[in-house]
Amino acid sequence: MTKKTPNTRFKRILLKVGGESMIGDREYGIDPKAALKVAKHIKDIYTMHVQIAIVIGGGNIFRGIAGEKNGVDRATADYMGMLATVMNGLALQDALEKIGVPTRMQSALLMPAVAESFIRRKAIRHMEKGRVVILAAGTGVPYVTTDTGASLHALELKCDVLMKATKVDGVYDKDPLKHADAKRYRTLNFKDAIEKADIQIMDTAALAMSQENNMPVMVFELFKNDNLVKAVRGEDIGTYLANDVKTELAV
Ligand code: UDP
Repeated sequence: MTKKTPNTRFKRILLKVGGESMIGDREYGIDPKAALKVAKHIKDIYTMHVQIAIVIGGGNIFRGIAGEKNGVDRATADYMGMLATVMNGLALQDALEKIGVPTRMQSALLMPAVAESFIRRKAIRHMEKGRVVILAAGTGVPYVTTDTGASLHALELKCDVLMKATKVDGVYDKDPLKHADAKRYRTLNFKDAIEKADIQIMDTAALAMSQENNMPVMVFELFKNDNLVKAVRGEDIGTYLANDVKTELAV
């Protein structure tokens, strides 16, 4: 069965879900209730017939940089981080399937007992058949993060947009947690996003890749209302980054 064409602005999306979304009320690790919450938001857009690939992070369990600070070799620590994303991927797969969303998980590190290997054309076919594809282990190589994996996969899977769902409702001119007068950008030109040192969105490598290959990026809060639904409809939420927009603050 092939998926119906959706009546939305974006037909195929790459959704980057940070590991922190899986923590829930805990301080560390995976809370299955939080995974279910993420899954329900994804189901909302799945039922709109949008094709969905998800890159899942691992920061709730292990980040390579933190491992290195504690004396682990950086590359080894990064592989540990990639394994963390596989655990999150399995938790998200479990939650999605529990609520009736068919999935396939593909991993950039070979792990045949738990996931298919990442094969680009197969991932596309899964989406065409109406399966949500969960992409674990980022790029499969160290010294980068899952943001780079998200940017890379968005391009090779020919997604219309990279959606970075976070805990903050967009990109601000300064850290909104530290500055009460921080203002949100409604639109942000990639050039400004890369040049302005105060703006923290994703790795510079990931941003540069999106800029060079014209892959728009949307940044918004995943858990706020029906933000994900609004995002796929193309409504004005969070921050939209692209080459063909002027940098403007939200009013
Ligand atoms: N990682 C990596 N290569 C990749 C993706 C991830 O080495 O392509 C490692 C890296 O150590 C990273 C960790 O996996 O810190 C977890 O991913 P990330 O920090 O991106 O998770 P998130 O912040 O999205 O939860």
